Amino acid sequence: MLRDQFPLLTQQVSGQPLIYLDNAATTQKPRQVIDTVAAYYRTTNANVHRASHHLSAEATLRFEQARETMARYLNAAHSREVIWTRGTTEAINLVANSWGVSNLSTGDEIVLSTLEHHANIVPWQMVAERTGAIIRVVPLLETGDLDMDAYRNVLNDRTKLVAVGHVSNTLGTVNPVAEITAAAKAVDATVLIDGAQALPHFQIDVQAIGCDFYVFSGHKMFAPTGIGVLWGKETLLDVMPPWQGGGEMIAQVSFSGTTYNQLPFKFEAGTPNISGVLGLSAAVSWLNQQDRHALDQHEHQLFQHALACCQNVPGFTRIGAPKHSASLISFQLDKHHQQDIGLQLDQMGIAVRTGHHCAMPLMQALGINGTTRASFAFYNTLAEVELFATALDQIAREND
Ligand code: PLP
Repeated sequence: MLRDQFPLLTQQVSGQPLIYLDNAATTQKPRQVIDTVAAYYRTTNANVHRASHHLSAEATLRFEQARETMARYLNAAHSREVIWTRGTTEAINLVANSWGVSNLSTGDEIVLSTLEHHANIVPWQMVAERTGAIIRVVPLLETGDLDMDAYRNVLNDRTKLVAVGHVSNTLGTVNPVAEITAAAKAVDATVLIDGAQALPHFQIDVQAIGCDFYVFSGHKMFAPTGIGVLWGKETLLDVMPPWQGGGEMIAQVSFSGTTYNQLPFKFEAGTPNISGVLGLSAAVSWLNQQDRHALDQHEHQLFQHALACCQNVPGFTRIGAPKHSASLISFQLDKHHQQDIGLQLDQMGIAVRTGHHCAMPLMQALGINGTTRASFAFYNTLAEVELFATALDQIAREND
């Protein structure tokens, strides 16, 4: 059974079988990923791209094969377009500090949306402060979908960058990123898509989307923490200055001047997270072995079932109801603070996320201070969804 491949899920928490519904924060890892990381340290550990010895050659080979695996998975034109980062946050900071600082100037406009995670807001605020660029924000419809008319209206010849999330970590909204990109391209803007919440649910094709940068984190797609990807078009990456200095990003160093390495190494300063890269590649291989259509259908079923079960819980209000949603539900329970709900669920072995979900501007726009979020992955079961709804019902009634 697929679930048996995720060893952590057999645990007990608070004397109850763990029900892990915090998948949007981070996902659990299949044995294939855990074994790959452990095997690397047991048999292959050496620094990459450096030494002439056997272990280093083997580690380098596997490290670069992982880049090829990722490039194929994303349908990138070349593996040179895959830059390893620590995660989504670092990838966005890289683009902001490299592309942003060298391409933005006073009066240029950066378009974000109300849905964005702080990781796709703060780096742009920092770069706007340095360059004099202005941030414009696309509002939402009541459903939690982006207001596409407002988006089209905000675009103009000063728009230099559109940076939006593919899937909202808070409302589950799946944004029409190809359409968003096409409209941005009509005004010659560069487009970055934050795919942190998309990769765990579906496979993406960067060329079909047509964007310039696509970023995501390994740990949200069944791989280790501390590893992520910046995919960028080679033509753009090629002319961008490096962000961090040292290690693999150099070609030649002297005190009279330093020249930089080629792509992708120009953006990979210092010893990389080698075991993380191999673990991420193992996660991609594992996903490739699955019937993604069946997993997608199962997630959809979990989501629909959760919605149906929770509607009967007294005082339950779903926050947002986007047209296309990933398998997560943000909600409030009348008279119950989300923190209390999270703690009480934890005592029943159920892990959810509570609070602002690193989306404070979204909370401000919705006029609330937080939600409880249950986010599902394909290894969750319909029985778990029912136990979750029963637990919520108990909380709602007990403290009434
Ligand atoms: N963007 C979105 C939409 C997210 O959900 C997250 C994490 O929750 C991030 C960015 C930041 O990811 P990381 O902390 O892995 O860099």
